[in-house]
Amino acid sequence: MRRLMNETDLRASRLIAPIFVRHGDGIMEPVEAMPGVNRYSVDKLEGYISRLQDAGIRAVLLFGLPESKDELGSQAYASDGVVPRAIAEIKKAAPSVLVAADVCLCEYTSHGHCGVIKDGKVDNDLTLPLLARAAVEYARAGADMVGPSAMMDRQVAAIRKALDDSGHQETIVMGYSAKFASSFYGPFREAAGSAPSFGDRKSYQMSGANSREAIREIEEDIKEGADVVMVKPALAYLDVIAKARARFNLPIAAYNVSGEYSMIKAASSNGWLDERMVAMEVLTSIRRAGADMIITYFAEQAANWLKESA
Ligand SMILES: [Zn+2]
Repeated sequence: MRRLMNETDLRASRLIAPIFVRHGDGIMEPVEAMPGVNRYSVDKLEGYISRLQDAGIRAVLLFGLPESKDELGSQAYASDGVVPRAIAEIKKAAPSVLVAADVCLCEYTSHGHCGVIKDGKVDNDLTLPLLARAAVEYARAGADMVGPSAMMDRQVAAIRKALDDSGHQETIVMGYSAKFASSFYGPFREAAGSAPSFGDRKSYQMSGANSREAIREIEEDIKEGADVVMVKPALAYLDVIAKARARFNLPIAAYNVSGEYSMIKAASSNGWLDERMVAMEVLTSIRRAGADMIITYFAEQAANWLKESA
């Protein structure tokens, strides 16, 4: 009876698993602040992807950890960079898995900011062509979807145009449209080695106090050609997801970020919370708020839990 009456369904097909891909060979390296999450070298991806597929996960989002970093983040758009190689590897091993790639510079720049630094500040317009180049490299490697996350103005338009001009009209763009300057990103920065070396990201990410601004940012991304729009983080911003759902007809993604994952892991490892029940409650709440798809570090576990309870 409860299942018949449930208004919200959580399914494995709604979940996207983020994957950290690093340089090197034969490496599967745990991320300390995110129990159960690893960084994989490209050669180790195939095994992990087949585990995800067994669980029922059909979509992944890649983040790269390059061997070297520089001022301009050049490994983000190198054609033999770690992310293009990972995309090609996954598409070869599992052609039916949707591969999305995060497009940003922060994992690749020596200063850890999402854009090019000029006179001590992130320069929006100098960053756009580099993001566009990265997106084209990922599309060329076989990515189905690219996700610009730098929060630079006009980044979706720059990427859409570069994709179209290079013959990648079918590659879709998922805008990290409403990305808040959040303290919930802490564990991710350990995982991706992307903490800024000076200042913070508040000049380009949004204030957590603003939901009307979030709607404006989403509107802008839609005008620029985004196919999917995202709200990030998810849990502390469910109202923003719900507002976006009521207002826009595009698919909405929500990013259940690292801190949202790690706090459940930490509390449950202390016996203070029931991990499975709490994680499923959180994921259901994100769906109920209106997200069509959820990017979550719980993807594999949640998919297995869903199978168990089916
Ligand atoms: Zn970034």
